[in-house]
Amino acid sequence: MPPDTQIVIVGGRIVTGDGTTLHDRGVVRIRGTGIIDVARGEADAGSEAIVLNATGCTVIPGIVNAHAHGCIHGPSMPSGSVPVRPTDVDYFRNRHLLSGTTTLLNVCGLALPDEIDGPSNQRHAMDIHLTTAHTTSNLAAAIAIDGGGLSKRHKIARIDDMVDKGAKALGEAGGGQTLGGGAQDYRFIPAAIEAATGISIHPKEARALKEAVLGRYLDRGLPDLSRLNALLIECGLAAKIGASDLIKLIRDTVMPPVALSLKGFDEIAAASERLDFPAIFHNAAPTAATLLKLAETYPKARIIAGHSNHPMFLPEEAVRFGQQLRERGVTIDVSTLDCIETRWRNDTANIDALVEAGLVDTLSTDFAGGDWDSILSAIQRMVRKSQLLLPAAIALATGNVSKTFPELAADRGLLEKGKRADVAIVENHNLGRVRHVVANGQLVVFNGAMGVGDLHAYAMGERR
Ligand SMILES: [Zn+2]
Repeated sequence: MPPDTQIVIVGGRIVTGDGTTLHDRGVVRIRGTGIIDVARGEADAGSEAIVLNATGCTVIPGIVNAHAHGCIHGPSMPSGSVPVRPTDVDYFRNRHLLSGTTTLLNVCGLALPDEIDGPSNQRHAMDIHLTTAHTTSNLAAAIAIDGGGLSKRHKIARIDDMVDKGAKALGEAGGGQTLGGGAQDYRFIPAAIEAATGISIHPKEARALKEAVLGRYLDRGLPDLSRLNALLIECGLAAKIGASDLIKLIRDTVMPPVALSLKGFDEIAAASERLDFPAIFHNAAPTAATLLKLAETYPKARIIAGHSNHPMFLPEEAVRFGQQLRERGVTIDVSTLDCIETRWRNDTANIDALVEAGLVDTLSTDFAGGDWDSILSAIQRMVRKSQLLLPAAIALATGNVSKTFPELAADRGLLEKGKRADVAIVENHNLGRVRHVVANGQLVVFNGAMGVGDLHAYAMGERR
């Protein structure tokens, strides 16, 4: 497409992403890579333009997802595990783009900026960036649980240098792998139990066993033996492993990186204040108190409490910590995880409680073992349940994210003259259904499809 080609989006309902503005019918004009006009009413397209008819649809800024994993080549997760398979990276990237996301921040934290696109150097239509958590303790925590993807280059990397080389935020400080969270439930504990007993257990069973041994705050002095013995029978493990062996197995699987990871929290908060840079923290039951303390110790740190609806919280705890963190200037992020549609391990109780308490600033997916639901499916749910008005719900994943992460997204996240031309056109009656996506002025999803033939020719053809 020549750089001066125009795209004109007509006939749709427009939500600009600022949290309040909605036009029942309006026009968005794009030229090159920028938005040149957003207006109410109808418009004459002009013969040079590709016209996207958005009748029956809502036109919103491309989604900015500032907490995702699995979308870059390089060590994965805060555990510095081996890279995600390239074919899975492709799949996750495509899923995000087809879900209306045009900018994504991969927060695994230990990959290097030159590893975003891997050896083939293939840029994706979605604009993908990464974070850095390269401090002594975070690297040590990764190595204590896994570190299989870390080479010397990763081990000697440090955040100041990574920020200079283009990392867009600090973090994710800690993670389910290093802090006894979700990845322990779906990966490490089931793997250890299978190795010891030959039996494969569900992540929910792993979580129940973990909590019986360590408690939700990982601070239980003595295991809950009666609960543990009941669970051993329920999970079909009783004939294969005794309670005391299982207690040792779970402690040995979960606890080695925990203290290091909490020390890594302090290093990231201090760096956030020193560099005046946003920092994403794993927020769950074992870390909430640490995060509160850090917000007081480093009042100028730009702290984002990631996935504050984490399943280790009870709903009232998620709300109480959310309130206390917000009072200390912390940004409250929630993640879809697999809560919205998939519900393999998690449910909506915590995200509902936080949204209904008015505590949510930003909305991301996180990873949930690859089961993450789309951001727009969560927004659809909030709107349908009347938890938030449409403009406020859309802002959680657009304008609010650009305000929180200007280093990543100051030039986008709003339908506004001069902003980067990132636009999603979604169905009015189900905002989770994405019809068209424009990224950086290019039509990259048309009628729900990407990369099928020449989309521009297809779009021009349909006009005739
Ligand atoms: Zn996390």
